[in-house]
Amino acid sequence: MTRVFAVANQKGGVGKTTTTVNLAAALAASGQHVLVVDLDPQGNASTALGVDHHSGVLSTYEVLTQDTPLAQIVQECPEGEGRLWLAPATIDLAGAEIELVSMVAREGRLDRAITRFLPTYEQGHGHEIDIVIIDCPPSLGLLTLNAMVAARELLLPIQCEYYALEGVSQLLRTIDLVTAHLNPELKVGAVLLTMYDGRTRLSAQVVQEVRAHFGSIVLPTLIPRSVRLSEAPSYGQTVLAYDPGSSGALAYAEAAHELINNVGQ
Ligand code: ADP
Ligand code: MG
Repeated sequence: MTRVFAVANQKGGVGKTTTTVNLAAALAASGQHVLVVDLDPQGNASTALGVDHHSGVLSTYEVLTQDTPLAQIVQECPEGEGRLWLAPATIDLAGAEIELVSMVAREGRLDRAITRFLPTYEQGHGHEIDIVIIDCPPSLGLLTLNAMVAARELLLPIQCEYYALEGVSQLLRTIDLVTAHLNPELKVGAVLLTMYDGRTRLSAQVVQEVRAHFGSIVLPTLIPRSVRLSEAPSYGQTVLAYDPGSSGALAYAEAAHELINNVGQ
């Protein structure tokens, strides 16, 4: 059974994309077959995974607005040894938020595309995709809604900074609306604390506050603030390829391990 995660938080810069690509790479390195779906018009996940996504490349834009099958847009990521795949995003996706408004079943289009893709992939490759990870844009618009309808589990990255929980109640209300009307199976599967700085009291306070708020769904692993994590994308790499021994790489590998073993749920 394929697990489908949406990495969502309408705040920008909290580590959604960094989490998506490095978790995906860590999961692939541990033998899982992983599909990353880039649903952010910025295409940062596509950049980090080393996949071409200039305007005109077939992308999640065509999947959402023109019913193009995912199989036609999915590309293999160079560092994944055949286990890491990406549905890229191009800047065209910026228009989808508006174009989708007038479309039929506008919130369920990604869900349908993934549901159709998974058996096709399995037939072609002789094994299934174990995990799908959807990287969401920093908003609660139709792109994020499509991710929430397609996913079973929401992965919520929270940055260890001031106002860490700001906006979280709005996100949780949106999830409630989605479970009531569009996808009863959706749940917050895990919370991941990012950009943790062990030298500051603030980071420790945020960790406490988030654990008090969310309880056992907070993954034990903290993702440290690490310059290696921010450097890797400019080489078209995840940190696991760029600097496998770095603290960020080790932390994401540990978080991947916790996710697949359902630690804390
Ligand atoms: P989002 O997708 O939520 O907007 P990103 O993953 O793009 O957030 O992260 C925002 C910025 O912070 C990026 O420049 C990224 O490289 C950097 N960053 C993310 N996580 C870390 C970390 N643990 N340590 C250092 N820099 C990080
Ligand atoms: Mg992002």
